[in-house]
Amino acid sequence: MSPSPLVRDQAGFSAEAWFVAPIKRHRLLLLAAICLAVLPFVLFWQVWWPDARQRRVFAHGDFTIQHYPMRAFVARELRQGRLPLWDPYAFGGESAVSESLFAIYYPLGFWEVIFPTLPFTALELEAVAQLGLAGIFTFLLVRRLTGRAAAGLIAGVTFSLGGFLTSYPMLQLIILQTAIWLPAGLWLLDIGLDRRSLRCVAVAGAVLGVGILGGHFQTFLYVAYAAGAFLLFRAGRLRLGWRCTLAAALPIECRCVSSEHFLSERDELARFFSGKKTYLMERYYRHMRVKWQLLLEPDGRTPLTGRWNYDAENRKRLPANLRTPPAPSFVRDVSNLTDLLARAGVSSIGTLDARHFNWPLTRAESLQLLEHFVRERLPYFGDYQDAMAERDGLLFHSRLSFSLNVKLLHPLEVVRRAIAEWEARPAEIPFSALEGFVRQIVGWREYVRGVYWAEMPRYRKMNFFEHAAALPGWYWTGQTRMHCLRRVIQQSLEQAYAHHIQRLMVTGNFALLLGVHPDEVDAWYLGIYQDAIEWVELPNTRGMSQFADGGIVGTKPYVSSANYLQRMSNYCAHCPYDPKQRYGPKACPFNALYWDFYHRHAGRLRGNPRIGMAYQVWERMDAQEQQRILEHARWVKEAVEEL
Ligand SMILES: Cc1cc2nc3c(=O)[nH]c(=O)nc-3n(C[C@H](O)[C@H](O)[C@H](O)COP(=O)(O)OP(=O)(O)OC[C@H]3O[C@@H](n4cnc5c(N)ncnc54)[C@H](O)[C@@H]3O)c2cc1C
Ligand code: SF4
Repeated sequence: MSPSPLVRDQAGFSAEAWFVAPIKRHRLLLLAAICLAVLPFVLFWQVWWPDARQRRVFAHGDFTIQHYPMRAFVARELRQGRLPLWDPYAFGGESAVSESLFAIYYPLGFWEVIFPTLPFTALELEAVAQLGLAGIFTFLLVRRLTGRAAAGLIAGVTFSLGGFLTSYPMLQLIILQTAIWLPAGLWLLDIGLDRRSLRCVAVAGAVLGVGILGGHFQTFLYVAYAAGAFLLFRAGRLRLGWRCTLAAALPIECRCVSSEHFLSERDELARFFSGKKTYLMERYYRHMRVKWQLLLEPDGRTPLTGRWNYDAENRKRLPANLRTPPAPSFVRDVSNLTDLLARAGVSSIGTLDARHFNWPLTRAESLQLLEHFVRERLPYFGDYQDAMAERDGLLFHSRLSFSLNVKLLHPLEVVRRAIAEWEARPAEIPFSALEGFVRQIVGWREYVRGVYWAEMPRYRKMNFFEHAAALPGWYWTGQTRMHCLRRVIQQSLEQAYAHHIQRLMVTGNFALLLGVHPDEVDAWYLGIYQDAIEWVELPNTRGMSQFADGGIVGTKPYVSSANYLQRMSNYCAHCPYDPKQRYGPKACPFNALYWDFYHRHAGRLRGNPRIGMAYQVWERMDAQEQQRILEHARWVKEAVEEL
């Protein structure tokens, strides 16, 4: 390797670190900025073209009879060391300090003093250069808001070279000088609000204020309205954070602190994946493992055992003879409360044995549940994480989500307790079980929260497949003959609990195959589970389960035919439908819906490399078989309430 020509100087200054490395790191950004700065000169090439025959000048009007002579006067006075107080030439004599047209305080005009007499072309070029600035500011703002450099570039070109700036404001220089500061101010405002930095918000205010010096008060009023609207939008978007947002914008002393009950900051995921198209859970999970130094070698970077993820080993079917431990009981009588609700006429879903309410409601009970989990269930958690069984809806899951979500337990104390148990009983607890459990809490839980804050409020409206079907009424009663759905829904109605695969591959899977509107699916999940809080429910339902976000959370839709359900559960053995048949009166409805789903969304999914296999199988089927499947799917959708 050749030595770098740049050396660290004695005071510790390194040109490599200060200049070369940042330039390398931000080279695409620099390239975009250079393009945006140069493009206006390309569009207005006739202003500076050396060949006089091709040259054009700005149209005769305010630019020639007001702006140019006024600016030339200001530049000459300043150059000669005089304050440009009174211009005896403009309109038969005019006060230059009090007339905004002179824009004597506008900082970008100060360079004009270098000319003994301001050339007309210099002022034209200044106007063109300001278009470039408008483009760069817009690029920075939109890239920040969308996380996409391409979006920033398109917006930058549109604003700087679009009809608004390149027409009237070019000739009415003061409008241009005021308008271009809007995107710069919004960009800094956004940074300031994100960082809760009063200083940065103040700088944003100062930058917007340069627009006043630009000289067009009416345009500045629009700029101020837009900045105010942006501030309100940001405050609304942050919802719970709106107080911090406003406080940061106002001269009120305040300190905003993050919730102590998570392992990452609310915007940490957005910052971690800044500029990336997708959020990969695995990358974030590894980041969290390193951040909290969990399950790492002494070097603090390498995963224990050399592997980060044992997901592939967490997919076993439950053996018929494997005993599952009885769940601890926290029985308490809550009939006072249910009576109160009944008297108040509050309607509800599901069934509740009010005299034997069996959920941990105190910290002591939550700790008891944690102890029970690490001792009795953790050893099998990994292997049977995806399994489902008729006899037991909990299997080896922890049931800790409620205690975690209502902050009776801290996620770090939960994973540390699991790690301690594994350290004490390494022969009994496979590492894959421990890793699988740590991944759920340190990985998935933190990840979905980050996605929620990064993508809301637009996330709540996403509907990638444009699904519009209604949720079948039996989702609220469990009254269907499809046994897997009946079992999982009834369990959910009785216990307000279903484990992850029941939620994802039974109820979620069927709703997605059927094409139910994600709003209805969300409402169901939010209403039915005791651990349902929007920040965790929404990315799981709309994202992971319904793929309504088009792939922000998952790389492909989680759909399956009866094949998967038969492999991972014993539900099919109790079902009147046949998991092997694709059509016919006894055919499992999942099968026809599964192929119908891929068929109707081929335009959106065919190119997804993770789905290619399904399309190959579909395309290998003969046309008659395909036709029968699609007809059966149509019948299933029409008769869904009767299934
Ligand atoms: C469609 C759908 C909706 C869901 N809605 C919710 C919800 O409203 N509230 C909720 O807490 N979880 C939700 N989940 C995630 C997960 O199903 C539950 O956290 C889990 O089933 C709770 O049971 P448990 O405590 O026994 O979990 P375990 O299997 O024992 O896992 C341990 C812990 O890991 C965390 N965890 C595991 N998977 C996830 C995940 N995907 N996202 C966030 N945390 C996770 C939970 O805190 C859980 O308690 C949803 C999943 C799906 C597919
Ligand atoms: S046959 Fe189909 S509907 Fe019945 S339990 Fe199996 S997957 Fe569910």
